[in-house]
Amino acid sequence: MVAAAGRASPAGTPIRVAVAGYRGKVGVEIVRGVEAAPDMEFVGGVEVGDDLGAFLHSRHPDALVDFTHPSAALRNALAAVAAGCRPVVGTTGLPEVGVQQLEDACRDAGVGGIVAPNFSVGAVVMMHLAEIAAPYFTAAEVIEMHHPTKADAPSGTALATARRIGARQKFQYSRTEKLTLAGVRGGEEAGVGVHSVRLPGLVADQEILFGLAGQTLTITHRTTSREAFVPGVLLAVRRVTAEPRFYRALDQLLGLG
Ligand code: NAP
Repeated sequence: MVAAAGRASPAGTPIRVAVAGYRGKVGVEIVRGVEAAPDMEFVGGVEVGDDLGAFLHSRHPDALVDFTHPSAALRNALAAVAAGCRPVVGTTGLPEVGVQQLEDACRDAGVGGIVAPNFSVGAVVMMHLAEIAAPYFTAAEVIEMHHPTKADAPSGTALATARRIGARQKFQYSRTEKLTLAGVRGGEEAGVGVHSVRLPGLVADQEILFGLAGQTLTITHRTTSREAFVPGVLLAVRRVTAEPRFYRALDQLLGLG
């Protein structure tokens, strides 16, 4: 069955935004950002165990922002689409088949949507700049630095960065002859060294170091709080409620991908 097409917000009417995971670490920042946005209205939050179908039916959000858990995000997003509401998914770890299912559902319903592994505008621009720099250097190493409760290492952004710059240049990875401490050189992906630092006080930082005879170039992105994800999410909400297009990354939305 084809779901009802989403309503575009008439000019001057605030975009009605709901947030799944609104009490989570990122969710609270998104709610704050939506409440502060002059063109948006926060219409409510959904937590574990809430009846999302009933919520969507009663609050009629134009967009549902999801920062929950991979086990819940796809179900939430598909329920949103079925209600004519645009999904803005920040939750990471969705399988490709799930993202494709969501894209198909959005297309069939005639609504926009986005699944983006990184909503930080600075991080997306950092990767873009690194791709531009890559062909001019012979070696590169990525150092990502995160809070100690981060579940995985390296970060998805570090891995994506290594793959993207490795696709632009055949880097020479320096293998050290004698290692006196296991793991001290970090990992290697696409000829790029990758290192993970975990430290209290950090949120999410990354440095990309490029080397060439007699010089280095460093591109650094620093995150001081999870507010870093707000501008990208608000941009995405505005875009997907204005046009029925599906995005798989913030890069595409910023015109960088
Ligand atoms: P968090 O602090 O654990 O917050 C997740 C929230 O979602 C919690 O409040 C949790 O409730 C709630 N939740 C879980 N299942 C739910 C469901 N079925 N329905 C509604 N709410 C549900 O995690 P976080 O640090 O905010 O991160 C959330 C997700 O965003 C993760 O997947 C993370 O990797 C991702 N993330 C993405 C970006 C990006 O730029 N794309 C940036 C940062 C984080 P309980 O506490 O009751 O379980």
